[in-house]
Amino acid sequence: MTFKALQATKNGNTISANLVEMEETDLMAGDVTVKIDYSTVNYKDGMALSGRAPIIQSFPLVAGIDFAGSVESSSHPGIEVGDKVVANSWGLSQSHHGGYAQKARVSGEWLVKIPDALSTKDAMAIGTAGYTAMLCVLALEQGGITPDRGDILVTGANGGVGSVAIALLSSLGYRVVASTGRLDEADYLRELGAAEIIDRHTLSEPGAPVGAERWAGAVDSVGSATLANVLAQTRYRGVVTACGLAQGLDLPSTVLPFILRNVTLAGIDSVNAPQAVRIEAWSRIARDLDLKKLFRTTKVIGLPDVPAIAALILEGKVQGRTVVDVNAAADNRLS
Ligand code: NDP
Repeated sequence: MTFKALQATKNGNTISANLVEMEETDLMAGDVTVKIDYSTVNYKDGMALSGRAPIIQSFPLVAGIDFAGSVESSSHPGIEVGDKVVANSWGLSQSHHGGYAQKARVSGEWLVKIPDALSTKDAMAIGTAGYTAMLCVLALEQGGITPDRGDILVTGANGGVGSVAIALLSSLGYRVVASTGRLDEADYLRELGAAEIIDRHTLSEPGAPVGAERWAGAVDSVGSATLANVLAQTRYRGVVTACGLAQGLDLPSTVLPFILRNVTLAGIDSVNAPQAVRIEAWSRIARDLDLKKLFRTTKVIGLPDVPAIAALILEGKVQGRTVVDVNAAADNRLS
């Protein structure tokens, strides 16, 4: 039987994404076949489909760095037919067909069983962005940052990682300060749980190597001068988690925050995170995330809408999370 997929092809330097019909024999190697319900649009999907970063390594390839669905067949120990599973990153949309399709075949090592409290749609409303936000929260906890230590700064607040980080941290009792370029969205950020909103321009220009101590911890998805300023403003023995590069991939900083204030810069990688860490992150999401907050701004689109949203996310014009219903009729549009 055929199924629909959004396939990326490359002509010269131009990448295009087209809806195609594929056969099961087109699927790649793996010991689990999944009937996909939903995928999502992450910043990395925007970079992959625009070619801004060389994420897709072989063409043609089904794009989409994550998916959620139910297991159709499995020879992988511990994964049974009918299990609800989620896959985030690994080789998806890099060297292996990704989540913008009605079907996928992958190694069972790439799959996490979705906790009972979450549906496949919830899992993609959370997506790689939300799971990465949880990895940041876990790193803050591992660094000893408890709510009584002080304010937590979240940069890129209106984005996928930022919005889920705010919701998670506020549910856990932290006082969250949200940094954004979209001050007109302050009400949305407060609804997510931000106690205070600051203009991202106060952080985005090169600043002093150390400044007044403000943050007990931070979740930074922006990088560049913003991350340097966040480090400079972090309190003694604070923890800054760095997961993104929305402003830039440079880090124009000095060693002073580390050697004068004992600040920890915790790197966050969701792509190759060990299975045990993924399972912990997903079970903590099921426990700690208030999905009602997330769903207030989650949009649902169909496969044909993905390229347009992937372009908008690179311009910082997408708020919160976008779920892709891979089984929606081809003429389905933003709902
Ligand atoms: P989004 O596009 O949803 O969010 C990024 C946000 O950053 C924007 O909404 C905007 O927030 C802010 N922003 C955008 N451009 C700039 C700029 N020039 N200067 C300062 N702030 C800016 O992306 P995601 O949340 O999905 O991902 C965020 C980052 O994290 C990306 O760089 C992505 O590649 C990375 N990432 C890394 C992962 C990992 O494993 N390490 C996994 C997932 C994501 P606002 O409008 O509020 O200012």
